[in-house]
Amino acid sequence: MPGVWKNMLKLLEIIYKAGKYLYVADTLSRAPVDPACEELIDKQLKIYSIKQLENLSISKEKLIEIKLATEQDEILKIIKDYHTNGWPKNPNKIQKNIGCFFPHRHDMHCNNGLLFIKNSLVIPESLRKDILNKIHRGHLGVNKCQRMARDFIFWPDINLDIHKMVPSCEKCNKFQNNNTKETLLPHSITLHPCEKNRN
Ligand SMILES: [Zn+2]
Repeated sequence: MPGVWKNMLKLLEIIYKAGKYLYVADTLSRAPVDPACEELIDKQLKIYSIKQLENLSISKEKLIEIKLATEQDEILKIIKDYHTNGWPKNPNKIQKNIGCFFPHRHDMHCNNGLLFIKNSLVIPESLRKDILNKIHRGHLGVNKCQRMARDFIFWPDINLDIHKMVPSCEKCNKFQNNNTKETLLPHSITLHPCEKNRN
């Protein structure tokens, strides 16, 4: 044992206590939260939810449209209900198009009528085509569009939908051959070092 520890042990008073007197703290026996602290947490949560909506870079009008479409979407209605009242214990009993949200249930939250998974806004089915067109507005490729959508919006198979949509874009197909690279013309190989190539 290093000398430092030996000296520290000399300073400590060691008392024997029976196992039944060694209390183990659990979640419920922690010190109660100060009410002032709760208020602060509420305030911080409100600020976070406002900031989260601002960070989406979606206009207020569009957010209202997404909110209304979320309320009317049959699948998202059930998911919001599960989120509020608890998910079924057996995921096999959930219908397939809802089951794909099951692995994300712990990352889910509602903010102002909108459904989020982490920081990504869940888009109802009726608006997905429109959002896909917005993602591809700059006619970027599949990877860049997928990167743009990541951490911003969510629906099951969004990556697959982007993968299908980009190659079917009429404008991309029309102009993709306009910027073809020149074919490389190699020089003939010289016979000796430092020999000038006459081509
Ligand atoms: Zn395009």
